[in-house]
Amino acid sequence: MTSSLEASALDTLGQVIPEHVLEIARVLARTGHRTWVVGGSLRDQLRTVLAGSSPNHGADWDLATDAQPQVVQRAFKRVIPTGIKHGTVTVMLGQQGYEVTTLRGEADYSDGRRPDSVYFVDDIREDLARRDFTINAIAYDPLARVVEDPFDGVGDLQRRLIRAVGSASERFGEDGLRVLRAARFVATLEFDLDPETARAIEPSLDSFRKVSPERVRDEWIKTMKARAPSRAFIVMRDHGLLSATAPALLGPEQSTGEAPLQVALRAVDLSAPNPSVRFAALLHNVGSASVNDQPVNQSAELAFGLLSSLRFSNKDRDRIVSLVRHHAAFDPDTRSDADLRRWLRRVGPELLEDLHALMQAIASARAEATDGVERLFERARSILKLKPPLTIGELAVTGNDLRQELDLAPGPLLGRTLQALLELVLDDPEQNQRARLLALARDTAAKLESS
Ligand code: ATP
Ligand code: MG
Repeated sequence: MTSSLEASALDTLGQVIPEHVLEIARVLARTGHRTWVVGGSLRDQLRTVLAGSSPNHGADWDLATDAQPQVVQRAFKRVIPTGIKHGTVTVMLGQQGYEVTTLRGEADYSDGRRPDSVYFVDDIREDLARRDFTINAIAYDPLARVVEDPFDGVGDLQRRLIRAVGSASERFGEDGLRVLRAARFVATLEFDLDPETARAIEPSLDSFRKVSPERVRDEWIKTMKARAPSRAFIVMRDHGLLSATAPALLGPEQSTGEAPLQVALRAVDLSAPNPSVRFAALLHNVGSASVNDQPVNQSAELAFGLLSSLRFSNKDRDRIVSLVRHHAAFDPDTRSDADLRRWLRRVGPELLEDLHALMQAIASARAEATDGVERLFERARSILKLKPPLTIGELAVTGNDLRQELDLAPGPLLGRTLQALLELVLDDPEQNQRARLLALARDTAAKLESS
């Protein structure tokens, strides 16, 4: 089968192929080889073409060819051997790079993680057959203007279905990441799972458990770019992926009322597609429970553990954990400016806008009013505009000044004195002047020493 694409759609697809892609195909044609547009880039262009929306002219294009990698390398002036072992090279034309991959066959996966080896083939259909889902297993020859669609991926694009190529259980057994990719596409494309593909997920969980945490992390990050990431997390919850990766998100078994995960997922969908905010929304209540009717919250600790196990960078992890730690709303009207300065010191001004987005999303997800949150952040912003010192480093005196002027030896007393000065300045930023602080420091150090 070639494809069920109508002539007009084929025409629109032809028009969106950039000149560079045609140039690569023509150069390889002179060496006796064919080139196809494949993968996610073709899928996404076809989707817009089928929806009648205007195609994305600035998109990346994944190319496949029946030429061996060495042939591709020789055919172009500037080529980067990006993943030459797997048959991928990047052809540079102008400022633009194009990944060109030699057709590959399905290799053995003895560990459910990575193919043991790759081998090159010259039949585009064999290459398409090793791909995960029908919508990702379409190829378009831009010179012949022919679509190869052996698994009716175009039909599934129209039906909005994620369906495995061939036997879903076999495909999922080979590479456990595919089940998570299925969940991700349910969210990013807003498609449904084909029932047979869905049924094959649970029996494949053993292979899913072998997938490296880095690959799982990357899928989760891509999932967060969807309009409604909850679609993917619901698939993960319903088919056992979440209990394999993050059982804490499923919460205690016999909780009453709405499951915390439901609230968290609503908050994820309601936040803008900023990954830190969305991960914080997902995790904000992962550790809330009540023990003897007392609320306890270990969400920040559990978030730290989960993000570490998924190998998030320390920087990303710490940012998300801070957001989780500080998300609790409070009534700003009962707090003084000094209270808010202390709160800002704990939060850190650089986190303020993300925290605002997070607290708004959580309040909306709980169907609570957001005006308290708005007032809090308005006040916080106007306080920050006055640039109050929030850290010891922003004091008008340094530890060195205190050592010289007060004859203080380096050590705990010096540190405690600076800390006490900061507390005074947080109460009243006007005090942050060198002479004033030195005078205060004399009293403070004397008091601390005698206490
Ligand atoms: P994205 O929009 O995230 O780029 P994609 O489908 O393009 O999605 P890539 O990882 O860029 O995903 O892979 C390109 C193509 O390679 C896919 O469309 C699919 O045909 C194939 N592919 C990728 N990962 C797998 C996998 N784990 N198993 C089988 N085929 C895969
Ligand atoms: Mg891609």
